Amino acid sequence: MHLGDTSAIITGGASGLGEATARYFASQGAQVTLLDRDSTRGMQVAQDIGGHFVQTDVTDETSVQTAVTYAIEKMGLITAAVNCAGIADAIKTVGREGPHPLPDFQRTIDINLVGTFNVSRLAAEAMQGNAPEADGARGVIINTASIAAFDGQKGQVAYAASKGGVVGLCLPMARDLAKTGIRVMTIAPGIFMTPMLAGLGEDVQSQLAADVPCPPRLGDPAEYGRLAGFIVECGYLNGEVIRIDGALRMR
Ligand code: NAD
Repeated sequence: MHLGDTSAIITGGASGLGEATARYFASQGAQVTLLDRDSTRGMQVAQDIGGHFVQTDVTDETSVQTAVTYAIEKMGLITAAVNCAGIADAIKTVGREGPHPLPDFQRTIDINLVGTFNVSRLAAEAMQGNAPEADGARGVIINTASIAAFDGQKGQVAYAASKGGVVGLCLPMARDLAKTGIRVMTIAPGIFMTPMLAGLGEDVQSQLAADVPCPPRLGDPAEYGRLAGFIVECGYLNGEVIRIDGALRMR
């Protein structure tokens, strides 16, 4: 698959890693449809890159089905689905204010894990109808976990569990979809300079950056976008999780 011939849906495409991926894919000639709940930013990014935007809640079946139908209407088909929509929270199992509220835990799992699965299954159903390439390839799904799936920190119990789930579904989904020529890959980012991180202030940012062995800086979202592009083009990558973290292992 060549990135220039790709028709991609990108969730969370209004911000951060999803936006950077959308910009990189479009710069290489790909058709892009952004799926995000933030319509102001989403429409702006889509306009900038000459792509499409559809307001979507990844946790909602009808919303994602509508978005997939819209993307096919606009692009003709879907050959790549990149899942970047997600939220992060910081609540301990039992904190000063009592036990972790169950609705907060469920919300994080719902957006990060169930949302990723919801988009993957509906994108895969659409990709099944694509004409196969010479080696049978019909499409690729790229999900976003986090190094918190492996090295979760205090206060990350819900986030780490949701990302552990994203890691866990990668191989079985790749196996499920193998017969139809759809690959499934997962990227586990370290700490990237996205709007979420920018809000923490420069002191916290430089402290976080100092813990990254090499290069000693936060990740650039464009680096995530280029990795996603490489995964699209490298047809032998399947069923695996790639860390992109400057060798950071959080203690
Ligand atoms: P971000 O906050 O900049 O972007 C997330 C986007 O997801 C936003 O545009 C938001 O509107 C959208 N979104 C949230 N819930 C949604 C929903 N229910 N339906 C549709 N869209 C929804 O965050 P980011 O830093 O770009 O993170 C992107 C992904 O990468 C997340 O899954 C995050 O957990 C993961 N990640 C980020 C980092 C990092 O350091 N930034 C590290 C590891 C993993």
